[in-house]
Amino acid sequence: MRRRNGNGSQQLQDITEKFRKGEAKLIKVLEDAGYLTEREKSTFLDKIDKAVAQKRSSEVLATAHSLHNKIIRVLQNGKGEKRANEGQELEILMEVSRLIQTTNQREEGLDKLMELIRQVIPFENGTLFVLNRGSGQLVVGSVYGDHVDLIGGVAFDHGYGFSSWVAKQQKPILLNELHRTTRTVGPEIGSFLSVPLVVQQELVGVLNLSHSANQAFTDEHLRLLTLIASQAASILQRILMYEEMARLAITDELTGLYNRRHFVTRLQEEVERSKRHDHPFSLLFLDLDNFKRINDTYGHVLGDRILAELGKLLHKWARKSDLLARFGGEEFVVLLPMTDQQQAMAAAERLRTAVQEHSFPRRKRLTISVGVSCYPNDTENVEELVKMADQALYQAKKSGRNRSMACSMGAA
Ligand code: GH3
Ligand code: MG
Ligand code: MG
Repeated sequence: MRRRNGNGSQQLQDITEKFRKGEAKLIKVLEDAGYLTEREKSTFLDKIDKAVAQKRSSEVLATAHSLHNKIIRVLQNGKGEKRANEGQELEILMEVSRLIQTTNQREEGLDKLMELIRQVIPFENGTLFVLNRGSGQLVVGSVYGDHVDLIGGVAFDHGYGFSSWVAKQQKPILLNELHRTTRTVGPEIGSFLSVPLVVQQELVGVLNLSHSANQAFTDEHLRLLTLIASQAASILQRILMYEEMARLAITDELTGLYNRRHFVTRLQEEVERSKRHDHPFSLLFLDLDNFKRINDTYGHVLGDRILAELGKLLHKWARKSDLLARFGGEEFVVLLPMTDQQQAMAAAERLRTAVQEHSFPRRKRLTISVGVSCYPNDTENVEELVKMADQALYQAKKSGRNRSMACSMGAA
């Protein structure tokens, strides 16, 4: 029997491999710049390979963090010594990479990046766009001063505005003789500089800078910004990969819901929160009825599609504050914050009805059984809380399926 969850997933392996390549590249850059010895280089490479081989994203991330801390120390030590190739440009490049490595908050890192660029290029307004991989659109990652983009209303591949055109061309652009037109929104723009952030032909963002005066930017500014952009791009790519890896590590691949590990973590946190604020919360434990029959009759592929569909249905049904997870196989769990037993039973019934009325792929009809347990009334022990919901579910199955039961309804 194939048992799937997010951990060993193909997606996660792909991103881990990409990450490994990215880190190797970073090390190469540092080595070429004379910041790493041969031995340091091989130690870092070794660590990354080992972390990747363990195939545990949490360990890869942990290793990456310790690696980055080491790189920062190497850079800090290296700063004191005079090196032949240590010019102002390299300084800024190193500053850029150090800055973003020390920040795990994307927004904060990007804001600082903008300020750093301002030290070398005299812009008044700047906008840094980041590509959202899911939608393929450019979204604003950081704004300095006013948001700048030319021709806002025209749609290109990557969204609206001039930046998406730059994104498509993947070439920087310098416009120094812009004149006031009928533009009424946004800042006055006399000069405009826009560079795509590209890593290995892959676009990760676009950086726009503007100034109200004409001729504010020179070719030297463009050259410098292009240089910084290449460094910023590989760092931005790494931030995006971090985010993606962190997301995949807690996600169940088939359904897109959280995985069991993450659920257990969050459950523990919810207990602490409920204790502090003296609020109850509830768990719904649900299992598809007679699901084995679907697999046996129509095959696993349809079975999987149905599970994915149930994930979507749960997602649509739930409130924003609810936590949804695939507990394993065809079992799911919902954590309802600030919900007592009565409200939880009502929610369970609504969900059960929603599933019963749903038309699944190939017009299959399915039902679920639901077990309900509540904190703190049923128990204050986390493991027991899950166990009690599971036992209530078992009772619901025993009583004929397609029903909800609370553990205090004689389930234990
Ligand atoms: P009931 O829960 O109503 O007692 O009956 P059931 O037939 O659903 O029985 P049970 O919960 O014991 O069986 C779970 C079945 O779910 C076994 C397996 O065929 C199927 N299953 C578990 N994980 C997956 C999966 O990832 N994909 C698919 N397609 N099927 C799965
Ligand atoms: Mg079942
Ligand atoms: Mg089951």
